[in-house]
Amino acid sequence: MPTLPGSLTLVKGIKPQPLVSLANFTSWRVGGPAEWFASPSSVEELQTLIAWAYEQKMPCRVIGAGSNLLINDAGLPGLSLCMRKLQGSDLDPKTGIVEALAGEPIPNLSKRAAKAGLHGLEWAVGIPGTVGGAAVMNAGAQGGCTADWLESVQVIDLNGEGPFELSRQELDYAYRQSLLQEKTLVVLSARFRLDPGHDHKELNQITHKNLTHRTTTQPYQLPSCGSVFRNPEPLKAGRLIEALGLKGHRIGGAEVSPIHANFIVNIGGATAADINQMITLIQQRVQTAHGVMLHPEVKRLGFEATA
Ligand SMILES: Cc1cc2nc3c(=O)[nH]c(=O)nc-3n(C[C@H](O)[C@H](O)[C@H](O)COP(=O)(O)OP(=O)(O)OC[C@H]3O[C@@H](n4cnc5c(N)ncnc54)[C@H](O)[C@@H]3O)c2cc1C
Repeated sequence: MPTLPGSLTLVKGIKPQPLVSLANFTSWRVGGPAEWFASPSSVEELQTLIAWAYEQKMPCRVIGAGSNLLINDAGLPGLSLCMRKLQGSDLDPKTGIVEALAGEPIPNLSKRAAKAGLHGLEWAVGIPGTVGGAAVMNAGAQGGCTADWLESVQVIDLNGEGPFELSRQELDYAYRQSLLQEKTLVVLSARFRLDPGHDHKELNQITHKNLTHRTTTQPYQLPSCGSVFRNPEPLKAGRLIEALGLKGHRIGGAEVSPIHANFIVNIGGATAADINQMITLIQQRVQTAHGVMLHPEVKRLGFEATA
């Protein structure tokens, strides 16, 4: 069992744990162990852990709900920080200002906003990620996306700098893209400006309808990470894959979903290698048949040569 390097004075119970399986922290349910793992429940704890990793010169990264992550079976070196315990949100039904900590589940925020008569996040109800992950990925669905409603984020740098605020304009948002994907910044919280004064019953209905639509048209019963590839606009990745007859194709425990071809589902016992192989196979087949290179939306960790 590895011993904890360096001096780490932390609040009781949040010392990094060695060799924690990350499969339990991703929606695909695959991935090897983190060399060191911690799940801070306050910004203070998070900052202490980041400073410790920086001091030890070890790689450090954060995981939200792990709903857009493929983690190598070999695991990850250094410190992996899960943000899920950093939850909490504050909604002002009069001004529409919503402040949420990075680990707050985005579906919760969507439902709370609807209840408060705040229009803007109805599309987010079926996205099983955190507020931080949504800000990084510019998550979106059904015509809406994070960048439409986010005003700013509080971040700290993995080198210990911060916290500081970045406005939406500074985040360079585009389709499923943001500056946060290029930098070593950790989102602590996000501020949204929603549209106040709406009928909460109507918003609840729309939110409910959006969720039903997704759970009936997408494979929500099996582990996945949602859409694997960005849509090569104006084309749809799912249609290109489906046209090649790949629905139902299997590699080990990874299957191109028969319900939605842009989903790769874990039908049981899949490894990250199975899924990664499927990603490569789809890219090659689509490139050959349609002359289009599909780019993964999912973030691959520990696959540096292919990510
Ligand atoms: C069933 C299903 C349906 C989905 N549907 C959609 C959809 O309709 N639209 C859509 O856009 N996505 C969808 N997704 C993908 C995913 O839910 C989103 O990309 C989501 O925003 C990821 O959030 P997360 O917290 O899980 O981030 P993770 O997957 O944990 O991380 C994603 C990236 O963000 C980084 N990150 C996470 N939190 C932070 C933070 N606090 N600070 C800095 N970096 C951070 C990670 O390091 C990683 O690079 C779906 C996934 C599933 C499983």
